[in-house]
Amino acid sequence: MDEKKIIGIDLGGTTVKFAILAIDGEIQQKWSIETNILDEGSYIIPEIIESINHRLNLYDMKAEDFIGIGMGTPGSVDIEAGTVIGAYNLNWRTLQPVREQIEEGTGIRFKLDNDANVAALGERWKGAGENDPNVIFMTLGTGVGGGIIMEGQLLHGHGGCAGEIGHVTVEPHGFECTCGKVGCLETVASATGVVRVARQLSEEYAGDSELKRRLDDGQAITSKDVFVLAEQEDSFALMVVDKVCFYLGFACGNLGNTLNPSSIVLGGGVSAAGEFLRSRVEKYFNEYTFPQVRESTKIKLAELGNDAGVIGAASLALQFVQ
Ligand code: ZN
Repeated sequence: MDEKKIIGIDLGGTTVKFAILAIDGEIQQKWSIETNILDEGSYIIPEIIESINHRLNLYDMKAEDFIGIGMGTPGSVDIEAGTVIGAYNLNWRTLQPVREQIEEGTGIRFKLDNDANVAALGERWKGAGENDPNVIFMTLGTGVGGGIIMEGQLLHGHGGCAGEIGHVTVEPHGFECTCGKVGCLETVASATGVVRVARQLSEEYAGDSELKRRLDDGQAITSKDVFVLAEQEDSFALMVVDKVCFYLGFACGNLGNTLNPSSIVLGGGVSAAGEFLRSRVEKYFNEYTFPQVRESTKIKLAELGNDAGVIGAASLALQFVQ
């Protein structure tokens, strides 16, 4: 049989990324379109269908050449029904019958999951997870998301909420979260969370610091500024980074104690701080894990960057051949 291919789609609030992959996960073609969220996001799926069909025509490929399409999306996903609801950055407030529309529009079978879960699948398969059956992925960006793969299976949980690592409580009396409770990891380890921690700690910091000066001046700072200044040994920035890494190491430690994956992979914008971040998270992870977990679970940095989403999404389609 001629080698069939898979398609991965990473649907985001500003762009839709597409890739055609071989079944071993090698990307053969990549392209992207802008996400048109006008009119309740009603153009999004038709434009995805049009883009795929156009691409297939262009390269003289047919629906039969593909095992399937997988897609990662924001919002609440019903993986059985193939629907999405409540993806506010896409203007999708009502139920979207995504699978039905895409299968009808392309003639190719389709699977769907949430964006953090597909990024986890991507990093596990072709990135830092080294295709191990037990991997946890954490994305530190605008929010904190995650995906948990145990014994080769992505965990969804009874209500579809497994892997919502961003809402693990790390500070019982902490900041309010968008989810309605307080002290979530997301409130202190997302890009905005890092800045929030800096503002809070600056109230009681009296030493000499460029970061403290900028905050007192009312300048807008970003999480990147905090990490850059910390790497330049700004004493207050180092204190902020240490606190953020404590929260991450504490959460990772408890995930490790509960699930004992081979690795916990840190991705997303905040993880661009690299080894500077990883080594500090690991220090606290070691503190909050018991010996067997400390020795067998590794803290790693993500390797695939933006490609994690399309690769992981495409891997969903491999379920059609299992
Ligand atoms: Zn929360």
